[in-house]
Amino acid sequence: MADTEPFDDVLPKALQRRSPAPLVDIGANLTHASFAHDLESVLNRARAANVTALIVTGTDREHAEQAIELARRHPELHATAGVHPHDASGWNADLEAAMRELHRQPEVVAVGECGLDFNRNFSTPAEQERAFEAQLGLAVECGKPLFVHERDAGRRLHEMLRAWRDDISDAVVHCFTADRATLHGYLDLDLHIGLTGWICDERRGHHLRDLVSDIPLNRLMVETDCPYLLPRHLPAKLKGRRHEPALLPWIVQEIAHWYGIEETELAQATTATARAFFRLTGNVVPDRIRHPAQEEE
Ligand SMILES: [Zn+2]
Repeated sequence: MADTEPFDDVLPKALQRRSPAPLVDIGANLTHASFAHDLESVLNRARAANVTALIVTGTDREHAEQAIELARRHPELHATAGVHPHDASGWNADLEAAMRELHRQPEVVAVGECGLDFNRNFSTPAEQERAFEAQLGLAVECGKPLFVHERDAGRRLHEMLRAWRDDISDAVVHCFTADRATLHGYLDLDLHIGLTGWICDERRGHHLRDLVSDIPLNRLMVETDCPYLLPRHLPAKLKGRRHEPALLPWIVQEIAHWYGIEETELAQATTATARAFFRLTGNVVPDRIRHPAQEEE
């Protein structure tokens, strides 16, 4: 094995899989409480699996601040800062000002997670639209791309993004699970698409298998959405059933299969797309780590 950094014994041998090319996990909820006790080992296993950069999802003010904190300590981590549609009812002027400040931080590479979720409606649709609209405005202000969540709200999300499309830089609809018409609506707006292990789910991910090759490689990115959405096709059971970034190669392998290309090609393409989309610097150690003194401005 060429692995310089070994997996530890938490992942069963059968699940230890190293991607043939470096990967970027564009959606990792590493501020989730389930990662609090062993984040260092989780990151070590990600490295061993050749997952070399991770975007830590910030779903509200508190988690965005934690994501930024993590990104300051680990050069391979980057953060997003947004308010999830579930929490949209809490949107107000103070929160908007706080988010604007977070978006100015160099560790923050995208505005989000934000968007619309009419599946669960933990906040009312009107509250969700208000919070999303405000965050579209914040994305225009800071010039950073959007990390968007959508569930059962494709039509409305498309309308809102179309209205803002000329003003925002870029947007990725993460964890895409909708149908072909919705996908093509997003692609027509020149949006990016994030795919998770949903496609590995034989009960509800079937329809994605025929759709994936409709996504141009320069619009496709991959993510775990861990600790959620543990892929259902893994060859061994995982204690605690917590999904983690080291399992991303299993998802990439599955997507490549249905896309009809080599895993290496998909890995290289999605990584290039992600690095360009989030404007990650070529080096795994960004300038901000090497020159911390210049951050204070
Ligand atoms: Zn989401």
